[in-house]
Amino acid sequence: MKKLFVSIFTISLLFSCNKNTKTTDKALDQKFDKYKEGFVTSLWKINPGWASGVGYHKLDSILVVPDATETKVQLDFANTQLDSLKQYDIESLSDNNKTDFQMIKNQLEASVFSIKELKSSEWNPSEYNVCGSFAEILNGNYDSLEVRLRAFNAKMNAIPAYYEAAKKNIKNPTIEHTDLAIAQNIGGSTVFEADLNEALAKSKLSAAEKKEIQDKAKVSIKAIKDYAEWLQNLPNKTPRSFRLGADLYAKKFNFDIQSSYTADEIYKIAVDHKNDLHDKMFVLADKLWKKYKGNAPKPADKLELIKQVIDKISLQHTTPERFQSEIEKQIPELAAYVKAKDLLYIDPSKPLVVRKEPAYMAGVAGASISAAGPYDKNANTYYNVGSMSGWTAENAESYLREYNDYILQILNIHEAIPGHYTQLVYSNQSPSIIKSILGNGAMVEGWAVYAEKMMLESGYKNSDEMWLMYYKWNLRTTCNTILDISVHTKDMSKEEAMILLTREAFQQQAEAEGKWKRVTLSQVQLCSYFTGYTEIYNLREELKKQEGDKFNLKKFHEKFLSFGSAPVKYIKELMLSKE
Ligand code: ZN
Ligand code: ZN
Repeated sequence: MKKLFVSIFTISLLFSCNKNTKTTDKALDQKFDKYKEGFVTSLWKINPGWASGVGYHKLDSILVVPDATETKVQLDFANTQLDSLKQYDIESLSDNNKTDFQMIKNQLEASVFSIKELKSSEWNPSEYNVCGSFAEILNGNYDSLEVRLRAFNAKMNAIPAYYEAAKKNIKNPTIEHTDLAIAQNIGGSTVFEADLNEALAKSKLSAAEKKEIQDKAKVSIKAIKDYAEWLQNLPNKTPRSFRLGADLYAKKFNFDIQSSYTADEIYKIAVDHKNDLHDKMFVLADKLWKKYKGNAPKPADKLELIKQVIDKISLQHTTPERFQSEIEKQIPELAAYVKAKDLLYIDPSKPLVVRKEPAYMAGVAGASISAAGPYDKNANTYYNVGSMSGWTAENAESYLREYNDYILQILNIHEAIPGHYTQLVYSNQSPSIIKSILGNGAMVEGWAVYAEKMMLESGYKNSDEMWLMYYKWNLRTTCNTILDISVHTKDMSKEEAMILLTREAFQQQAEAEGKWKRVTLSQVQLCSYFTGYTEIYNLREELKKQEGDKFNLKKFHEKFLSFGSAPVKYIKELMLSKE
């Protein structure tokens, strides 16, 4: 039985390979371009909040009430569009449209899955929160303050109905998402108080208009606080578990990651990888012991030995004052290195701007990239660096040990060059509105994680210390995957999770606690980094084997990135079929 299944599978693979060589049907391809335009317009019409989020601001004044009618609108949209897609023979489309087709189809099927099976609108009360979208209207500088405040005003009309509909939808919510919803709604409601009043004071609106807005803001705050209170008093006798369960998890994994691996497969790969990393780390730490620990006796436990060496190396770090300038200094160094080693071309016309994290990003330490949205292509790409001002000396020290002299360089590779920022520059060169709005997270994160390994393999700042710290960093993504799958499908307890993170991945207690909280609130997303990385790395190794002496690393990187933020499995199909 099993054998039969395998041979059918092989045959269908052969057929799809043959089909890939079919030439593009120009007329059909153009028809599909038109279809995509219509798809995006309709998508925004029913998802105005999502539209504002990507910089399309024509629908800012609309707040969709999440009632039964709205669910029907979403389902009808998905089914109608899935029907329209049937007119297109995917194999006759251009490469760009082939991947766009798959991404649209996945989005629509995921939407049906979410409504009919996942049903998080019933068990996750934190899905209901209007505050963020109102804050974005106040913070955005895409239009005059007056225009934005008028959209803010009109949008407030639907807030009471919005929260009434939310209350009707909720059934047996998880305790974790209920607590989050209460905290985030109450916390977010300040946007209707201090933030709004400050904006009103600066605006040229008439006194009557200002009063109207302030009156509506009071009604809005009441609706938000009522919702939080309603959640607090909800007699939730049979709360749903925050654990998704194996069946739903497997399906969500397929929709969110769009990998050629299943969740079970990537779990096994991650466990093997973790063991492999431990072996490699032990060899290095054992070698470095004398240099950092002198004649101190070596612990018998391998993981303890590695930990003690890591703790010593982590003491080499910068200061809170020099944190940003240190990052600024490293960016051109990374660019020069990538150029000198001929790893890939980086277009210098859109430089990365390093800046202090803007106030509205509110105290989240670390670093992140702010990319321009698809409707605002000329805007800068920013590297936001969190400041440690106002931190206790103890917290700053712990943070700096984490982002020590070695890890900080790996962070810059990941976020900037040749990681996220470089990938963005490439994806902007093969413009696809579909890939900008439905971009595959596993490809984007996978690329940044791949870039770290690739840079070290090419010799970047190589030393035993650098490799040891890199392995520790790589253990984080690896264990994120193990953690997510174990917690959601294998009943891993909090105690077991803490052992995995603190003992096996060498994390601080505070970091591990934060990760535990995250895994109780999200599903699958924590797997995106490792899954994408594994797929990209394996694709490269496969091509290396196939092409032998003709394999060229620079060409591989540029070709891979030229497909934009599409799922790796589709890029792989296209790259392998071309050879
Ligand atoms: Zn220190
Ligand atoms: Zn990242």
